[in-house]
Amino acid sequence: MRMRLSRDNKGFTLIEIMIVIAIIAVLMAIALPNMMRAREASQKRACLSNLREINQAKEQYAMECRKQEGDEVSWNDIVPGYLKTQPACPLGSAYGLQIIGTYPTCANPQHVMQ
Ligand SMILES: [Zn+2]
Repeated sequence: MRMRLSRDNKGFTLIEIMIVIAIIAVLMAIALPNMMRAREASQKRACLSNLREINQAKEQYAMECRKQEGDEVSWNDIVPGYLKTQPACPLGSAYGLQIIGTYPTCANPQHVMQ
């Protein structure tokens, strides 16, 4: 017995293909912003981790070299003595060491240590 739906030409109709494409488009519209946000969040976490590392190196340098709060510090003071290499923000922004007693900063305004 043959089913009523079976046709001579096998394959998908235009409508079926369009529905599948529409479903894929909806799924992409839902997934892409989430993926972008997750990526940004992980870059920010990596940057904050770098800033914490820089801050620790700065504090250690200040303690061992008897620096006061407000004293200047340069990369040559802490690299390579207290940090193996000068870290870089995952987004390519520059780091500012700032004076002793304050947190180092990233040029990206969203990467703020507190
Ligand atoms: Zn950053």
